[in-house]
Amino acid sequence: MRTAFRPEQLADPHLKEAEHALRTCVHCGFCTATCPTYLVLGDERDSPRGRIMLIQNMLESDRRPTRETVRHLDRCLSCLGCRTTCPSGVDYSALIDTARLHIAKNYRRGPFQSLFRSAVLYLLMRPRLFAFASVLARIFAPVLPGKLGAMAKKAKRRKRRKTKMRFVLRTSPEAPKVLLLEGCAQRALAPEIDEAAARVLARRDVKTETAPLCCGALAYHMGNVGIAKRCAKRVIEAFEDAKADALTMTASGCVAFLKDYGSVFAGEPKWVERAQAMAARVEDFSELADAPKTPIADEAARALTIAYHPPCSLQHGQRIHGRGEQLLKEAGFNLVPIPDAHLCCGSAGSYSLLQPKIAEQLRARKLDAIRSTGATIIASGNIGCLTQLSGELPTAHIAELLDWAAGGPKPI
Ligand code: SF4
Ligand code: SF4
Repeated sequence: MRTAFRPEQLADPHLKEAEHALRTCVHCGFCTATCPTYLVLGDERDSPRGRIMLIQNMLESDRRPTRETVRHLDRCLSCLGCRTTCPSGVDYSALIDTARLHIAKNYRRGPFQSLFRSAVLYLLMRPRLFAFASVLARIFAPVLPGKLGAMAKKAKRRKRRKTKMRFVLRTSPEAPKVLLLEGCAQRALAPEIDEAAARVLARRDVKTETAPLCCGALAYHMGNVGIAKRCAKRVIEAFEDAKADALTMTASGCVAFLKDYGSVFAGEPKWVERAQAMAARVEDFSELADAPKTPIADEAARALTIAYHPPCSLQHGQRIHGRGEQLLKEAGFNLVPIPDAHLCCGSAGSYSLLQPKIAEQLRARKLDAIRSTGATIIASGNIGCLTQLSGELPTAHIAELLDWAAGGPKPI
């Protein structure tokens, strides 16, 4: 596709990247078939091809975006299903990220929307406050209106589980070290996932050191680059100080962002170098984990039928396919494939709070697909997806299931 950026615009590294992506798009429309928002809304402006046109007009004109443009771009999940489908290799992620930065700089949202977005970000990034708010939300869910009600309903679905036993495993003095970031929302909702992950890694003789840091993904995808960069700098410094062999998290959405830290600092040579050096050592938990040598013997576990939902951030963001399924099968679990597994469940970071109606439609579609398999439990590798899909069947993180298979606590 032809573009008409002025040379001075292309001095901005984000715009340069976006321009390259725009040039690659041939407008074939293959991506519309796999775009979750197009499937539920049926509007070309809510498809990748339509959004690419909106982004091009917005960025080239370098003007304040219209309310219509912002509405259709806000509805994008950043699931990157379109990137996986695209035969031309369009990097949609560069486009939507640059578009969000442009909107944050040039568009003034209404007072309620601005306040709500700031409150969501403030809350999600403070685990203690978030945990407390989740308890209140569960109590007041029936009487809260609109978006607040949707938030409360979601908090109600996933209650924090108390694992029956908490234990750590020792590793040898020569064991390689992994820095495990605890993140923000997951630390409040399900700290037991990281405990399970540490035991899974310890059985491979990998030592885990934890850091109570947020990666900044939520802030970045909401267009708040300042907060995102502050988080990212703290993470880079912590990784350098820890002298760890690798960096990981048990939320695949956060890992996808950590792997992309280089582009967050585009145009800042000193930080780009450090960010890229760190990003090269980032591994998803599923890449570091191993299945136990002996498949699980527990009768209750073998009787389960697991629907494994691969998070978009894993399959489309990190482009890791089949790893979760392989680990669970090797651990002795019985898995069933979910139809249309490439489609997003509607969680997408803060999306389910900011766009609750679309998120609920996508959740319903995903649960219909899961129900059709006869599954008795849902597994995934991202706290957002697990929370989004909670409420009907039991849910468990892949780390908890692998831990259980090797003698850890039963997670459900
Ligand atoms: S993003 Fe890819 S699949 Fe979608 S219209 Fe452009 S070239 Fe076609
Ligand atoms: S990122 Fe997801 S929701 Fe957004 S345009 Fe692509 S497929 Fe559609």
